[in-house]
Amino acid sequence: MAYDRNNIFARILRSEIPCQKVYEDVHVLAFSDIRPQAPVHVLVIPKGEYVSLDDFAAKAPAAEQAAFVAAVGKVARQLGLTEAGYRVLANHGADAGQEVPHFHVHIFGGKRLGRMLPRE
Ligand code: 5GP
Repeated sequence: MAYDRNNIFARILRSEIPCQKVYEDVHVLAFSDIRPQAPVHVLVIPKGEYVSLDDFAAKAPAAEQAAFVAAVGKVARQLGLTEAGYRVLANHGADAGQEVPHFHVHIFGGKRLGRMLPRE
């Protein structure tokens, strides 16, 4: 799948759409999810153009991948979630219900999060 430069997160990165910024560095932006599904729900995205986790894992230089993982830990620490715990989730593709075609991970926290997946 080709990267769509008009996806909503690309527009947030270009500051065409506002976001509630939580963290930013040279490689990464983190901001609050617009429809939070937990008391804390933050999205972490790379600044590079990657469609999904698969694309990022296959194409991003090692330094960008390392910076991304470091930033996820840093954001969770900054949010005060590390001691109580949190969940990190990435949706790739149709079966996972990925909505936005720019790689992102969700950080959920602020309460007991329950089962990883709902019962069928
Ligand atoms: P996905 O299903 O692709 O893993 O998750 C996409 C997430 O992006 C959803 O949780 C959705 O609420 C969030 N989202 C969609 N549009 C916007 C937006 O314009 N701003 C922000 N902050 N979050 C968005």
